Amino acid sequence: MTARVLVVDDIPANVKLLEAKLTAEYFDVSTAFNGREALDAATTEKPDIILLDVMMPEMDGFEVCRRLKSMPETQHVPVIMVTALDQPADRVTGLEAGADDFLTKPVDDIALMARVRSLVRLKLMTDELRMRETTSNQLGLMDETEAMQRAGAAMGRVLVVEDRETSARRVADSLREHNRVTIESDAREALVRVSGEDYDLVVVSLSLERSDGLRFCSHLRSEERTRNTPILAIVENGDTSRLVRALDMGVNDYLMRPVDRNELTARVRTQLKRKRYQDMLRQNLQLSLEMAITDPLTNLYNRRYMESHLGTLVQRAADRGKEISLLILDIDFFKSVNDTHGHDVGDDVLREFGDRLARNVRGIDLACRFGGEEFVVVMPDTDVAFANTVAERLRKEIADRPFKVGQGSLDITASIGVTSLQGPQESVDEFLKRADQALYRAKREGRNRVVSEAA
Ligand code: GH3
Ligand code: MG
Ligand code: MG
Repeated sequence: MTARVLVVDDIPANVKLLEAKLTAEYFDVSTAFNGREALDAATTEKPDIILLDVMMPEMDGFEVCRRLKSMPETQHVPVIMVTALDQPADRVTGLEAGADDFLTKPVDDIALMARVRSLVRLKLMTDELRMRETTSNQLGLMDETEAMQRAGAAMGRVLVVEDRETSARRVADSLREHNRVTIESDAREALVRVSGEDYDLVVVSLSLERSDGLRFCSHLRSEERTRNTPILAIVENGDTSRLVRALDMGVNDYLMRPVDRNELTARVRTQLKRKRYQDMLRQNLQLSLEMAITDPLTNLYNRRYMESHLGTLVQRAADRGKEISLLILDIDFFKSVNDTHGHDVGDDVLREFGDRLARNVRGIDLACRFGGEEFVVVMPDTDVAFANTVAERLRKEIADRPFKVGQGSLDITASIGVTSLQGPQESVDEFLKRADQALYRAKREGRNRVVSEAA
């Protein structure tokens, strides 16, 4: 992971030190020595994260943070406040100013990398989502502000794995206001829980007395269901070796004992946000995949999907020596529906036609809108005789019951051409063409009928 980091501190030696550490980890570092420069650099250099010293002359870090968080161009950039160890009140002020996390001076290497990585991950995800949201907005799929609010607002489901009762209770109490919290004292029991229920975050002690917290983390990372669930570890002060192993394993962030309430809530908030963005991205992707293959009016598959999938189905039938049949349905005199009742009524008819079709074919059949008022049903493992029966049932399903449109109703009929694949050497084009010829005959012979065409 590489990212642009802006380091802000009025003392050059501090800047140099952080710059050296971050550059060694392949981050791309820019620097600023006062608040004014920081605000400029934040807009011109577009950093992915900002490390911000609190104590600076003229404009202090809190004020810089407040300004960054109030400008649309910079409000998405995570800010880590670098505070002196002996000033816990700074953490509260920092949070109120909109800071995303804290580091205490002297800055510890592991803490620095854990925090920077965790927030950069969040930032990259937010960027990706915002970019896709823009596209989705253009497609009319999702409202950006609404989506962002959803990511910040909803209750999180948090599992706390901790066998020290007072510590568990303190953690749970700090998180309860915004989350549904479950406490589990045994890591093995916790594993059973996560396999049956979805959590947005797991907070786990790495110093459990009766079970192994590290092993638990490694299980979470190896299971499909929990691979992406954020983990926040609670570590004994000074237990660096266990902490390093946990971070290597993919634990997302950590807290040192004694757990500071403000740090806890800030880190939990970051992890939950990232999880929600991730979930939204996945949902969004799912949605665009669906959009690419479905017809928006009827929700049936579209022609593009049908044509590419028909190739696979025909090949498979040929390979296995199985039959496969095809129906083409075309609504009779549909033009006059539009001409008499208007295009909107025509659309209503198409929608209902699609519904009736979908409800009357099997799960393995592929129903699609082929174009205009023409539909196709592909039926794997089906001979022409059975396909005929299905076609006749569909014809009646359409003709026997008027279509509801607006206040009234309309009698609709359709003509249907039926055929089946004539052996392994036949192409998809020939297959479709023969069904089309059957349809043409059905029209010529008077419409509202089924005609099947053998080779
Ligand atoms: P036939 O019985 O021979 O099939 O006659 P027809 O009127 O159904 O066939 P034709 O191909 O002449 O007309 C099809 C009409 O379908 C013309 C077109 O405007 C209309 N149409 C195509 N797509 C849509 C659509 O998405 N919505 C609406 N409302 N009408 C559509
Ligand atoms: Mg027609
Ligand atoms: Mg037509």
